[in-house]
Amino acid sequence: MLISEDLTCRELVELVTEYLEGSLSPEERDRFEQHVVLCDGCAFYLEQIRTTVALTGSLTEESISPEARELLLGVFRDWKGG
Ligand SMILES: [Zn+2]
Repeated sequence: MLISEDLTCRELVELVTEYLEGSLSPEERDRFEQHVVLCDGCAFYLEQIRTTVALTGSLTEESISPEARELLLGVFRDWKGG
């Protein structure tokens, strides 16, 4: 999977399960981690996913509720000023 230059928040959300599974390439992983360092919203999101995984013991797309996903993406939109 190719990713151009900078990750967007939406791209990060899409990649988070692969990141936690360790299935990203080194380049993708670098971009992911650089984004998380700079973006409080995504750092928060990643923390939520990690907590979910810790609680459920599994990592699946289904374990991330659509509601939580949309809520966070909505927060991101607000932060970016629309
Ligand atoms: Zn972000």
